[in-house]
Amino acid sequence: MDLFEYQGKQYFARYGIPVSPGGVADTVEEAVAQAEKIGYPVVVKAQVQVGGRGKAGGIKLAENAAETRQHATAILGMNIRGHIVKRLWIEKASTIQEEYYASFTLDRSKKLHLGMLSARGGMDIEQVAAEDPNAIAKIWINPVDGLTEPVCRDWVAQAKLSPQAVAGVVDILLKLYRCYIEGDASLVEINPLIFTQEGIVRALDAKVSLDDPAISRHEEWKTFEGLAPTDERERLAKEKGLQYVGLDGNVGIIANGAGLAMSTVDIVHQVGGKPANFLDIGGGADADVLVDALTVISSDPAVKVIFINIFGGITRCEEVAKGIIEATQRVQLKAPIVVRLDGTNASEGRAMITAHLSDQLMMQSTMLAAAQKAVAMAGGK
Ligand code: GDP
Ligand code: MN
Repeated sequence: MDLFEYQGKQYFARYGIPVSPGGVADTVEEAVAQAEKIGYPVVVKAQVQVGGRGKAGGIKLAENAAETRQHATAILGMNIRGHIVKRLWIEKASTIQEEYYASFTLDRSKKLHLGMLSARGGMDIEQVAAEDPNAIAKIWINPVDGLTEPVCRDWVAQAKLSPQAVAGVVDILLKLYRCYIEGDASLVEINPLIFTQEGIVRALDAKVSLDDPAISRHEEWKTFEGLAPTDERERLAKEKGLQYVGLDGNVGIIANGAGLAMSTVDIVHQVGGKPANFLDIGGGADADVLVDALTVISSDPAVKVIFINIFGGITRCEEVAKGIIEATQRVQLKAPIVVRLDGTNASEGRAMITAHLSDQLMMQSTMLAAAQKAVAMAGGK
């Protein structure tokens, strides 16, 4: 789960990381009221989960109520790279002297945590990495050792920040590491981490991704969840406990096993089609699971055909066939189904499906043929 900037800053504040005082606003009136409470100048910031808001005009400085009103009016409803602004964060403006970059994330290939720090913050870190990789000081941290203060000091020294900023940055990085570890985040990023004209170091932006499986340890995450802009199909799938990822094509996909589901997405692409989703129904493929899967896929108006790709293993094909037949009778289908059934007891399973074939339930004997049939029916190749 990704947090909005204002939620990320609230999360940072729990760990003692300094952030500017501010408040959220969903209307122009609320924005002005927040600004009056905070005191001018303020910054009006679009709350969308996409970077580059500044460049897109989603971050504006306001010196008074009239300017706050003007900027809030312009930013609310703005489309920033496909994200519509529904909420603003109004915060006390900072006087920036320098902009740094700081983050922690997991380096899977090294099996260690990776910390990155740069004196060249405020812009895309990918751009810094491309232009001047030496401008990013990296540290790999063994989770058993953690990040100790002396190690943190050495790391900060490599980044060549203003000497007056060093103590504040070290303090924030130690807290940010705790936030990342104890807060069960998979990414914490501050860009920019600012050094102000008053000599203070503070987080001016916040990007936090939480590691979803840790939810049972964090009561406080419940307040974040409701606001996350989840795809309606994904929300429904989550409610039903399905492994579902929404995509933007028109071929609905159901497969048993993540590997087969990925291969199914690939083969649909390969024969010229576009998958509407990834959906792994796991090992058991009884009618209830298939009903849930078909319900979620049928809730997507873009779906023109549903490709059910099953390889029976421990779950035998006749059980799956029974599940498919029962599920098609229980769900109000809006698109025809193409089945590919193979594996343990395939001939028994296929015989059962054959007895129920119609223009709503079709079958092909191979994965390739079924993909081609499904894509053709969806209006593709
Ligand atoms: P992003 O564009 O989505 O990454 O949004 P940020 O929150 O990082 O803001 C982008 C840029 O706006 C920052 O790098 C700053 O240069 C500028 N900015 C944001 N807040 C302030 C502020 O309080 N004062 C000043 N002077 N500039 C700000
Ligand atoms: Mn930023």
